Amino acid sequence: MIIIENLPIQPEAGVPAYEYICDKCHQSFSLHISYAQYGHVAAACPHCGSEKVTRRIGKVRVSRSDDSRMQQFTDLADERKMEDIDKNPAEIGRMMRQMSQESGAEMGEEFNEVVDRLEHGQTSADLENDLPDPE
Ligand SMILES: [Zn+2]
Repeated sequence: MIIIENLPIQPEAGVPAYEYICDKCHQSFSLHISYAQYGHVAAACPHCGSEKVTRRIGKVRVSRSDDSRMQQFTDLADERKMEDIDKNPAEIGRMMRQMSQESGAEMGEEFNEVVDRLEHGQTSADLENDLPDPE
């Protein structure tokens, strides 16, 4: 899961810095304002004084919590669409295994079984029929 973090650039600095880009002179700058001030203080460009400024996205991070790891695979599956899985389950299986290995996450028995079955060419329908219902 990719999270666009609408959070300060330097949270460790005490007062967060928010990055802006000026719509008028196109210079970027950062403002040090507190959470409480944010949204109440008009940001103005220090270069030309214009208040037409656009907040820049601070940074993009990939969430590393265990729950969201599984979410990454789910998102990936959504992106590829279920019909793609059915067209080429072996490829999806390899991709999921590779992601799992790269992340170093222990995905659990069921995940490994799903990957294994995909790699052997089973479709999502096969998987649904075979996997036990969650209790
Ligand atoms: Zn400006």
